[in-house]
Amino acid sequence: MDPDCIFCKIVRNDLPSFKVYESDTVLAFLDIRPVNAGHTLVVPKAHSHNIFDIAQKDWLAVAEAVRTIAIAIEKGVGADGVNIAMNNREHAGQVVFHPHVHIIPRFKDDGLKLMPQREYKETEAATTLEKIRAAL
Ligand code: 5GP
Ligand code: ZN
Repeated sequence: MDPDCIFCKIVRNDLPSFKVYESDTVLAFLDIRPVNAGHTLVVPKAHSHNIFDIAQKDWLAVAEAVRTIAIAIEKGVGADGVNIAMNNREHAGQVVFHPHVHIIPRFKDDGLKLMPQREYKETEAATTLEKIRAAL
């Protein structure tokens, strides 16, 4: 636990939250500023920062909770689909440095475009692939 971490405070009930799901290792609660109503954050109870340092067992527990909760959110709020997202490090948009997975219910014609895309340039896909495979 990190005494200054806002999500650790929520886990400890030092801050209020709308709890969606709780187990020994995982907590899920409504995001305070939702993209759509039902937008939920799934966090490990143990503090770390993001995908780069979360313990494997915590990640596996979060991932399985995400699957279960995504099904419930879609059914519960009558969504037409869900986006599952995780921001890791400042320049990827991470603001709270305790790992969390966003589950965002989506609705036909809600007009959101979360991931602008582009084309690969000539050799870019092959050289990029080489770099990633070398780092595995
Ligand atoms: P990030 O950009 O780090 O992936 O997202 C952090 C998320 O946490 C944001 O969507 C933000 O609305 C949410 N958030 C920040 N503070 C609180 C809080 O005190 N309570 C709840 N429920 N959500 C929070
Ligand atoms: Zn924390």
